[in-house]
Amino acid sequence: MTKTLNLTEKLKQYFGFDTFKGDQEAIIRNLLDGNDSFVLMPTGGGKSLCYQLPSLIMDGVAVVISPLIALMKNQVDVINGISEENGVAHYINSSLNKAAIAQVMEDIRSGKTKLLYVAPESLIKPDNVEFLKSVKISFYAIDEAHCISEWGHDFRPEYRNIRPMINCIGQAPVIALTATATDKVRTDIKKSLGILDAKEFKSSFNRANLYYEVRPKTNDVDKELIKFIKKNEGKSGIVYCLSRKKVEELSAILQANNIKAAAYHAGLDNIPRSQTQDDFLMERIDVIVATIAFGMGIDKPDVRFVVHYDIPKSLEGYYQETGRAGRDGGEGYCLAFYSYKDIQKLEKFMEGKPVAEQDIGRQLLKETAAYAESSVCRRKMLLHYFGEEYHKENCGNCDNCNRPAEKIEAQKALEIVLRTIIALKENFRQEYVIDVVTGNATDDVVSHRHDQLEVFGEGEEERPKIWNPVIRQALISGYIKKNIENYGILKITDKGKEFIEHPHSFMIVEDADFDNVDYDGASEGKASALDEDLYRILKTLRSKVAKRHNLPPYVIFQDVSLEQMATMY
Ligand code: ADP
Ligand code: MG
Ligand code: ZN
Repeated sequence: MTKTLNLTEKLKQYFGFDTFKGDQEAIIRNLLDGNDSFVLMPTGGGKSLCYQLPSLIMDGVAVVISPLIALMKNQVDVINGISEENGVAHYINSSLNKAAIAQVMEDIRSGKTKLLYVAPESLIKPDNVEFLKSVKISFYAIDEAHCISEWGHDFRPEYRNIRPMINCIGQAPVIALTATATDKVRTDIKKSLGILDAKEFKSSFNRANLYYEVRPKTNDVDKELIKFIKKNEGKSGIVYCLSRKKVEELSAILQANNIKAAAYHAGLDNIPRSQTQDDFLMERIDVIVATIAFGMGIDKPDVRFVVHYDIPKSLEGYYQETGRAGRDGGEGYCLAFYSYKDIQKLEKFMEGKPVAEQDIGRQLLKETAAYAESSVCRRKMLLHYFGEEYHKENCGNCDNCNRPAEKIEAQKALEIVLRTIIALKENFRQEYVIDVVTGNATDDVVSHRHDQLEVFGEGEEERPKIWNPVIRQALISGYIKKNIENYGILKITDKGKEFIEHPHSFMIVEDADFDNVDYDGASEGKASALDEDLYRILKTLRSKVAKRHNLPPYVIFQDVSLEQMATMY
């Protein structure tokens, strides 16, 4: 039936768009055919439409599970805004009173409502379950599905209950959607939702316009940040810090240096907080200094830089946060300040937590540290982390590619690592493998009698600093992989076995030395034929027009248009 259905017509009719973005159409057809789906699409890719459109076409009401009350309300407003009558979309969450919930139920029963947004904690409420049992459900959509996994960057225990609730309410197809998921998280989601056979739709995670850079965090970090922002004067940017206290301090420092900055974190009252958001959108302020609470609901397409003043707790968080830069496809400068001390601080914070949680947290931190310290292309590392291969030798848009490190031969080192992993029966993590390779007889190693192995200490002659980069680059090149079930345990691949049989050259780059680097920030900005003066004049003019109409400036003209004008005039 769905083959003959003209979806493009429906898209135009309901949303006014002419064409589908990416895989949208295939995803929607899969859902209409009654199958489970798993959708991985970067932020801004157009995930919502994948469930909104079919809900309007299908019989019954679609249940959309979403973690954020603010976003829910926003989406409901959007849907009701495009339809003739009110009540096509509703939400149920803790902010509604009894009367409002009764109205929602009434609209659903009458068949008017096609989309119902629910917070997971509201889904468990017996009244709601009883009610939903009595109506026809077209399908279940789980948005921000990474919240299901402890290995994701935003774990919500309530998300664990979704499958039992679906079983209780009634079977219907399930569509899970997220913008960030490693292989590990993806497996967790499918298992927890019981959709192991779901069809996967995976868009590329590559954001080609984002420039990634990591600088050592020295005592002069504040000065360096101010210099960076001044160089980018008039552009919108976000600076992320881990603590509220640091957010307040840093925003005061920036203000004192004549930068139009404001602080944003969950501890502030609602009114100043939404005022700050608004000021940022309308470009009355340039820089927001924020905890990661900022950004989830924000849709400003022309954020030109994202700075991590403190290193994030996971690479998923880093990807998500940097992803807020350059959504319009224009410049997006992602700068992170890194010091190993910050990693140690974060490890300390975890000490009070349950052991299993600490272990997960530590491993996620290790991935972040490895990313920061490595001299490999940042894009390649990030994409590898999300299970995607990036084949270009030089991406041309990250610090490591712009200042390539010298390559060294690591054939012998890789042979030793691979043979050690086999000798350890593919049952240990990176640090343990390195202990054995370097002949470090820790209590753990001795208790396993691995100090008796032939490979023990075989790599003693190499510089100790070589092993982490060897293993990391062997992972990226596919000689070894990390176990999904028991995350972090190193396994050898067929390609790795082949290497042992027929070893060949393996060139690697050593890690950057973060205690001893001299950065000149040389790569900032690209040379172009753009007339800077004209560009500034156009920007000022745009601000004036925007102010007059009380609209955000990017609505008048996007940055790219101004750039073109200032280049082509
Ligand atoms: P995501 O949830 O993947 O981050 P959204 O669903 O919020 O992304 O969509 C991002 C933007 O893309 C929205 O402004 C939406 O209106 C727009 N969009 C979605 N699908 C299309 C389409 N087919 N054509 C044009 N714009 C689209
Ligand atoms: Mg979304
Ligand atoms: Zn690169």
